[in-house]
Amino acid sequence: MAEKFCCCNSGRTEDTCCGPYLAGQAIPKTPKQLMRSRYAAFFHKNSDYLIATRDPDFREVNDRQALATTFDNTRWLGLVVIQTDDSQLEQGIGSVEFAAFYDGGHLHEKSLFVNREGRWYYCEGQMLPPLVWGRNQLCWCNSQKKYKKCHGK
Ligand SMILES: [Zn+2]
Ligand SMILES: [Zn+2]
Repeated sequence: MAEKFCCCNSGRTEDTCCGPYLAGQAIPKTPKQLMRSRYAAFFHKNSDYLIATRDPDFREVNDRQALATTFDNTRWLGLVVIQTDDSQLEQGIGSVEFAAFYDGGHLHEKSLFVNREGRWYYCEGQMLPPLVWGRNQLCWCNSQKKYKKCHGK
């Protein structure tokens, strides 16, 4: 079988990245892994995974419908994890700042995660101001090319 790179742009193959989480064969061990796999679930339009990994206190009645709308309207192009706050992991709290790029823009967000009985869940996200991606910076799509020679063309 051909090696397929994971859609979360980790540079790893799907089998060694988000694939097993989405298939229910493994459980993310860190907020960062969960964050990446949730991005992958958006990419693959897997609403079951997104709902299952949302903290029960934050689930909404119309989640499935809202997700379907997002799936229809968004084509995801790449994910960049900017930083993680792992200082309270032992207390079951973590956060991940990331930028998720889609056709037409990007989402810059800091997501909050909690651990319940050994499983990480996504609670909510705080929107952050849009990022300015430098022309000479490596492109967010992990192509290893400069932004101006890649998606910044
Ligand atoms: Zn991945
Ligand atoms: Zn690019």
